Amino acid sequence: MQVKNKDVKRLLEKYREIALLGQVNSVLSWDLNVNLPPAAAEDRAAQSAFLTKLVTQRWLDPDFKFLFEKAKVQTKLTLEEKATLRNLEHSAKYYFRVPPELIIKFSEETSRAFMIWQRAKKENRFKDFLPSLKKIIKLNQLIAQHLGYQDNPYDALLDLYEPGLTTRSCQRLFSTLIPELITLLKQTKSNPKFQIKSDLINADLIYPQPDQEKLARFLLHKLNYNFSAGRQDLSSHPFTTVLGSSDVRVTNRYQPNNFIDSLTVALHEGGHALYEQGIKAEYALTPLAGGVSLGIHESQSRFWENQIGRSREFIHILTPILHAFYPAQLSQVGEDTLFTLFNQVAPGPIRVEADEVSYNLHIALRFELEEALINNRLKPQDLPAAWRAKMKKYLGIVPSTDREGVLQDVHWSYGSFGYFPTYTLGNLYAAQFTATLNRELKLTELVGNADFGTILSWLRTNIHQHGSLYWPAELLQKVTSQAFSPKFFLQYLQKKYR
Ligand code: MG
Repeated sequence: MQVKNKDVKRLLEKYREIALLGQVNSVLSWDLNVNLPPAAAEDRAAQSAFLTKLVTQRWLDPDFKFLFEKAKVQTKLTLEEKATLRNLEHSAKYYFRVPPELIIKFSEETSRAFMIWQRAKKENRFKDFLPSLKKIIKLNQLIAQHLGYQDNPYDALLDLYEPGLTTRSCQRLFSTLIPELITLLKQTKSNPKFQIKSDLINADLIYPQPDQEKLARFLLHKLNYNFSAGRQDLSSHPFTTVLGSSDVRVTNRYQPNNFIDSLTVALHEGGHALYEQGIKAEYALTPLAGGVSLGIHESQSRFWENQIGRSREFIHILTPILHAFYPAQLSQVGEDTLFTLFNQVAPGPIRVEADEVSYNLHIALRFELEEALINNRLKPQDLPAAWRAKMKKYLGIVPSTDREGVLQDVHWSYGSFGYFPTYTLGNLYAAQFTATLNRELKLTELVGNADFGTILSWLRTNIHQHGSLYWPAELLQKVTSQAFSPKFFLQYLQKKYR
């Protein structure tokens, strides 16, 4: 990237160290999730907290702040220089406004909470996690106060994950989605095309872990994920992480009696990873590196997982692959059955296993509970009951354990409040991008021919290469020639499931 402005150039030199420390922290966090022995939790918490302290010191370096203020008022900046400053301002806000002691305390607390949550979930004991959860909510409330907001402290937290997102805009979005989704869910539940009683998954048939692992790897290769700049490992909660511009890693997990879960996880995490691998190399270690927001990031994973991965054409090309990988288990199973299996609509307690129709209802529930917790309208100890009540209202079911209810997600143990709505945005953005892709390319034909390279190069040209150059609303407008709207997602669901 061509930077002519001297102040921006010096700022970028200083930022480079912040970005490098961030990558080192990603190595620690990847290791925490993939390899860490249980007794090492305190060691890792101290290491991460120390790195966070170094990052905070660099953000708060008076020289850095001085340069930033000087660069900000300059005119005649290029598009990239302006975007650099805008992104710096958005990230710096956290460090400029939240006291360093609070940032460090938050890092220590969440590192510890992750291990506590893991055990509490395993043992189905919400009360073991409750003290950590209370602390994390309190810390988030403090952080929100320091960050500042107009209407609702939850706005300050939402903005950390999706720039500009507010409680009010989420409420507006969910008030459109919820009734439509509940109606469609009721209709689809009784449509035999999307219902199947089958012993192929979650019964006695075993799909050995090495086979699942190999198939996940095979699909990542097909999608053009670059293994020489990445790897696939095992973790309890699948994720994608960037340890360097040429080190984008994914994880997966394998349920012995379910071949679909790890397959769709591979497509999902593969989508995140392809985004990161497609960003202009020259943006590495600058504020333009990385996907622009969690919502846009999730659009790339949901695109491959759902728009492509659960389509008729994809299941068509997948069928012989499944027969080859699981001859004993699936060789007698035809394309129609597989299509129904991949697209079953059945409301269940677990978000990550949810079908496309009910998924966003899981998010609506979390959004409403988080907003109530941050505003003290809901006490943390009342959370399991509130969770069950909302599940009943939106999905018509009640989880039988907290493990399948309030303890299922890792996010709160990480300290992330305001994160969940970006999943819904991702689904909606993905549908809007796909509508454009359909207009510009023969998408179904490309999928039918397993021509993923052409699809990927469209994504690279239009979305990936830009990294964080354009903000979400801008990118969406630029790529789709329309403002963000939930109508594309609702139309997609109506077309597929009605
Ligand atoms: Mg994701």
